[in-house]
Amino acid sequence: MEKKQFQAESKRLLEMMVNSIYSHKEIFLRELISNASDAIDKIYYKALTDDTLTFNKDDYYIKVDADKENRTLKITDTGIGMTKEELENNLGIIAKSGSLAFKNENEMKDGQDIIGQFGVGFYSAFMAADTVTVFTKALGSDEAYKWESQGTDGYTIEPHEKADVGTEVILNIKENNEDENYDEFLEEHHLKTIIKKYSDFIRYPIKMDVTESKPKEGSEDEFEQVQEEQTINSMVPIWRKNKNELTDEDYENFYTEKHYGFDKPLKHIHISVDGAVRYNAILFIPEKMPYDYYTKEYEKGLELYSNGVLIMEKCGDLLPDYFSFVKGMVDSEDLSLNISREILQHDRQLKLIAKNIKKKIASQLQSLLKDDREKYEAFYESFGRQLKYGVYSDFGSHKEELQDLLMFYSSKEKKLVTLADYVSRMPEDQKYIYYAAGETHDRIEKLPQTEIVSEKGYEILYFTEDIDEFAIKMVMNYKEKEFKSVSSGDLGIDEEENEDQTSEETDNKELFDYMKNVLSDKVKDVRVSKRLKSHPVCLSADGEVSIEMEKVLNSMPD
Ligand code: ADP
Ligand code: MG
Repeated sequence: MEKKQFQAESKRLLEMMVNSIYSHKEIFLRELISNASDAIDKIYYKALTDDTLTFNKDDYYIKVDADKENRTLKITDTGIGMTKEELENNLGIIAKSGSLAFKNENEMKDGQDIIGQFGVGFYSAFMAADTVTVFTKALGSDEAYKWESQGTDGYTIEPHEKADVGTEVILNIKENNEDENYDEFLEEHHLKTIIKKYSDFIRYPIKMDVTESKPKEGSEDEFEQVQEEQTINSMVPIWRKNKNELTDEDYENFYTEKHYGFDKPLKHIHISVDGAVRYNAILFIPEKMPYDYYTKEYEKGLELYSNGVLIMEKCGDLLPDYFSFVKGMVDSEDLSLNISREILQHDRQLKLIAKNIKKKIASQLQSLLKDDREKYEAFYESFGRQLKYGVYSDFGSHKEELQDLLMFYSSKEKKLVTLADYVSRMPEDQKYIYYAAGETHDRIEKLPQTEIVSEKGYEILYFTEDIDEFAIKMVMNYKEKEFKSVSSGDLGIDEEENEDQTSEETDNKELFDYMKNVLSDKVKDVRVSKRLKSHPVCLSADGEVSIEMEKVLNSMPD
């Protein structure tokens, strides 16, 4: 039997890939910079085991040069370079990753830092360029080579002069057409933005010649254009630094730099986990509600990095809806990426991280509540409603996690209290946790139904938001105490009520029959009640749905 190799139409494959796997053209720069960083990392790892090599961090950098006139963009690195054979294998065979092979050959344990693994990123250059030229000289080699390709019809390799070890990738940027703007890949400012966005935490400096307007020497009002080499990326990600070395201000700066919000964060959470799943995260609880927070436009999510390279700007799967206000980022080495390095193929790790993060947020909010009540109340003012939605959503399945974070205004304390506060103050004979729903505190205070409960010395929680009562119905009971609306039929207060009630009702049968008749389509029953003190009459609800809830339900669109 003859065994045959699969044949691939590499031209078509390349075209397909380039045009379909990446959703943003601009990521080609991320890919080329990642390759450059990998190439430098390889020298670094070789130097660890080879005494003849020294690694002086200052000698290693990546440089991006744009030449508008010639429409070229050049990415230079001082990395390990490629031999002729490596050029053929790594740039000539699609899906062959020299970096993955390097990782395996060197059994790199800490080597998770190497970014490449799929052997396709390089070709993304053809999304922006019609010709790609590579000049490269490998470490330890005297020969240098030029590799060139127009993408679809193969490539050429020839010897070429190059003084230093390393690689230059030169892109001939495409001309603009009706649909696409390629000029922006030659614009200094735009390039800086892309580098910052995706490659800010590459560990080696990414340099660029930047033109700036500076005052002329000896003159105050005359300016000249000066070119200056600048390092664009911040290099050391704050989340890899030791917590003890960081100040609140560092975190606040990060929050502002990242445009997480215009406010100052109320609290930051810095997580480094090195267990079943490894990740670093910096999360923020904002103080103020973003202007679009309670609208459909608001999109929850955290930035997701893999080895310091941005993979996704808003990863919604990392946050439950009830913590959608949390801002920040997660960096993990353990993510399963698909070849476009955009979406995750298997989200097992992501799920683990999300679960872990959720717990941390809950416990940090809990400690904020315990340690800094004032701050917690400011937080609750903005986002309490979201927590209540959380309790209500998914049939109350998150209530255990959230119920201790809830607060309601108290008739006794005249401020927000937690359910734990309430229960701890309950007199022994009090059976229920009482609440009253209404539009404002004022209105609730005037409700006839609250009188008897207050007179008994029992505290009442005021529910002024639509969601309150719905959420509490999901909680059902707290520390074995059930919730009771002050307008419900049986308040559990007057045991002796029944006897008096019947006698008064029979004594005044005519009056009661008359009232029932007049209100026949509005009320189910008219009864004598002992619960009224200074008011002649009140409405009360039997059953699960209270009058307030009914109002909300009726106001909802069908
Ligand atoms: P990946 O980075 O996932 O391996 P790429 O298509 O981006 O895939 O690159 C293919 C291979 O080409 C890399 O694994 C590496 O061996 C080689 N390579 C690409 N760019 C460079 C570079 N600047 N310096 C040295 N080798 C490079
Ligand atoms: Mg790559």
